[in-house]
Amino acid sequence: MTRKVIIVGAGPGDPELITLKGKKAIEEADIIVYAGSLVNREILKYNKKNAKIYNSATMDLEEIVKVMVEGVEKGLKVVRLHTGDPSIYGAIKEQIDELKKYNIDVEIIPGVTSLSAAASSLKVELTLPKVSQTVIITRPEGRTPMPERENLRELAKHGSTMAIFLGVSMIDKVVSQLIEGGYRRDTPVAVVYKASWKEEKIVRGTLEDIVPKVKEANIRKTALIIVGDVLDPKDYDYSKLYDKDFETEYRKRKL
Ligand code: SAH
Repeated sequence: MTRKVIIVGAGPGDPELITLKGKKAIEEADIIVYAGSLVNREILKYNKKNAKIYNSATMDLEEIVKVMVEGVEKGLKVVRLHTGDPSIYGAIKEQIDELKKYNIDVEIIPGVTSLSAAASSLKVELTLPKVSQTVIITRPEGRTPMPERENLRELAKHGSTMAIFLGVSMIDKVVSQLIEGGYRRDTPVAVVYKASWKEEKIVRGTLEDIVPKVKEANIRKTALIIVGDVLDPKDYDYSKLYDKDFETEYRKRKL
């Protein structure tokens, strides 16, 4: 048997927004280490084996790795449950590297990122022809330093759609940097708190007025800041994909 830990993307919150494969891994797990600050505990109920459950929010890296290694050494099925999709701010690389030292591999099952959940709640397409064809996923500098070329002011210069994680607690700073970087003050912004959870809240505005609105709604964490004209486009092009005057590999023009 391969010695491995399965890293599962738990999705954004709604327990139905997990892949079938991720759910199956949870059902069959003997040990689950879950990111307790954000993963919805309802998801743990899928487990059918009375698994031993650990909340990684109260553990350090060494403790997390120890639990996983000991589980694998005993031949148990170990699942590491991360919020959203593990590849985005998941801190998985360090765990993968630590596990490697014990000759333990990982399998990663992707999840629905909170960005997808937020876009769905907003009912928007993040990439509209003529408006923006690019989404920048980023965060403001916190305890984790940002490479200088990636500070929000630099990224704002592109005027693309931007999805800002881990930033709502410093939304004033975020907004001023975006404006300094070149976004118009009337650029639409949406802040989505706990996308896909029952407690979900959406605050909409512009760079000009979003800060007081977010303060008023008392949103201080677990929110995404989405910026860009795709939220409220004045003018956009219909795609070429379904344009009757264009042919695609799958659809020929009707004569
Ligand atoms: N891997 C996760 C992100 C982890 S970083 C993902 O793919 O979604 C944690 C940050 O993600 C939070 O500070 C917040 O900005 C965002 N986040 C996570 N879940 C969220 C949700 N349900 N709604 C809005 N933002 C969320």
